[in-house]
Amino acid sequence: MKQLINDLKKIKLAIFDLDGVIYRGDKLLPSVDKIIQDLKELSIKVVYNSNNSTATRQMYVDRLKKYNINSKISDFYTSASITASEITKIKQNSKIFVIGEIGLREELKAMEHTIVSNEGESDEIDFVIVGLDRAFNYKDIAFAQKSILKGKAQFYATNTDATLPIANGLLPGAGVMVKAIEICTSTKPIKVFGKPDPCGIKSILTDNKVSPKEAVIFGDRLETDILAGNRAEVKTVLVLTGVATYEMVEELKIQVSQAKNVDEDLIPDVIIENLNKIFI
Ligand SMILES: [Mg+2]
Repeated sequence: MKQLINDLKKIKLAIFDLDGVIYRGDKLLPSVDKIIQDLKELSIKVVYNSNNSTATRQMYVDRLKKYNINSKISDFYTSASITASEITKIKQNSKIFVIGEIGLREELKAMEHTIVSNEGESDEIDFVIVGLDRAFNYKDIAFAQKSILKGKAQFYATNTDATLPIANGLLPGAGVMVKAIEICTSTKPIKVFGKPDPCGIKSILTDNKVSPKEAVIFGDRLETDILAGNRAEVKTVLVLTGVATYEMVEELKIQVSQAKNVDEDLIPDVIIENLNKIFI
């Protein structure tokens, strides 16, 4: 992959997806700690962009520390942190009903929003925000439904990933919760802030003062990481240690060449087997 390392010489910022790229389930992928260190030694800034909204950014710092990777909170952009900053641009000090876990709740609270429980007043809710919630329940669905249909609440989501990869398989992803609210309200989220929307990657570029040409994204999913990267016009590298396979990309290329209705932005610029290939 000589071409990739040559291209990296122009790169100032490397954006890594986490699950399926840095680790898989609770295991660090082979040699990733060393690769991150090597990139930093080439003066490439490393940041992380995950669609998983369940953990706080401090939890990610602690997790990478366990894997011998040093990082700080500002190196992480999760769909929860991106949602919190984007929602704050829409309305400050709002009342929010959250279907989601500690990561999303803490990011919203840190931006001075009030989280209302499902025992609260549904007509006071400004936003219903839906992310992955592994304690998702009927009472929450009913409260979200009432806030949107009878109240004034606007419906937003962190991400719509269908699945959540774990060490030895898959669990249901945030998309399952989003669909539940869509079906019972006959509405779709006004916006989904996580990948493939490029707003997160654009914020990363702005915060780090780099142009799209100076950045690269490494991801394992075509419909989130690669699509978002291409939409933000950064170089996209598919890493085959997670969800997508080489065959999926080949199939897409065939469909594009046959002028089928396929988004060309799903196709990565480069495919590598694993992150070790950056330097081989
Ligand atoms: Mg991933």
